Amino acid sequence: MADLIDWSDILSNAERGVGISAEQALAIVRLTDPQDLQRLWQTAEASRREHKGNFVNTCGISNAKSGRCPEVCSFCSQSAHFETDAPKYQLKDVETLRAEARDAWEHGVREFSLVASGRAMTNRKELDTIKAAVTAIREDTGMQTCASLGLMSKQHLSELKDAGMQAVHHNLETARSFHASIVSSHSYDDEVDTIRAARDLGMYTCSGGIFGMGESWAQRVELAMELRELDVDSVPLNFLNPRPGTPLEESRELTAEDCLKIIAIFRLVLPTKDLIVCGGRSVNLGERQADIFRAGANGVMLGNYLTTAGREADDDLAMIEEQGMVIRPPPHMPHPPSLRPGVRSEGTDKNGVA
Ligand code: SF4
Repeated sequence: MADLIDWSDILSNAERGVGISAEQALAIVRLTDPQDLQRLWQTAEASRREHKGNFVNTCGISNAKSGRCPEVCSFCSQSAHFETDAPKYQLKDVETLRAEARDAWEHGVREFSLVASGRAMTNRKELDTIKAAVTAIREDTGMQTCASLGLMSKQHLSELKDAGMQAVHHNLETARSFHASIVSSHSYDDEVDTIRAARDLGMYTCSGGIFGMGESWAQRVELAMELRELDVDSVPLNFLNPRPGTPLEESRELTAEDCLKIIAIFRLVLPTKDLIVCGGRSVNLGERQADIFRAGANGVMLGNYLTTAGREADDDLAMIEEQGMVIRPPPHMPHPPSLRPGVRSEGTDKNGVA
């Protein structure tokens, strides 16, 4: 296996946008020697710098509609099939969503997603609320707008795009070979179809998974390969924060080093893509959170997650600055008009984005 890891070859391929093979990724999984791990972090960081400079994508979300979901996803406290303490409420109104987005903007968020529980959002009134909120958020802040609304048809995505929505988030959750062990109410192909519909519309696609649910390392690599095949633009990496009342409430599998290795492998499989560290960052990485950039990540979710609290935004902004990184301005808005004092968002990446 060791001969599969030629670091200079991996790096020169990554610089050209060519990712490692599944066999190489599995060889990396087996590395334990501190010097080998050092080479891994160096190579992943160099790949990230080559394609992303020192920019950090900062994502924020509104849990726009919570709980009472008819689907069965073992990690999720919003499923109506589990007894959990997740909040339950109907879709928030436009002014509430708009105010949340404005607050997120003032705390350094540059990409904002409206997230709703449920199999899919097909209710006309709800769709119109999301469309109106997207338009209002774009007018207020110029942030990149995104939504995560379950299994969406091309028709509904097209309407949201016309309202100003640029990105679609929909996680595959895990590898195809493990999906049925985690999700019993819809299929892997249902998930893939939503991503394909968004891609067909030319939207920015954001799709990743959750780690620490009982999947093997081979299945983590399988997910990375599936996402490469789908050619998604951005990959959110979540590390399970087990929720009381869910079937996975006792799952505690990941070490901080496992999380960093997952980030590095995804960076080397997907050298040109955005890699965003999302849920479970604090609880799984602890004091090693700042190492996510060394491991190859170029984005973080700021603020609270769906049903769990994140770190204080100021702590994350300080971490970004301490690591010599700067917040990437929203696409199409090189000079944001109302940056909060102290929130840095300047510089130029290799693509000339100011
Ligand atoms: S992950 Fe989404 S679809 Fe699955 S139970 Fe939770 S809210 Fe419902």
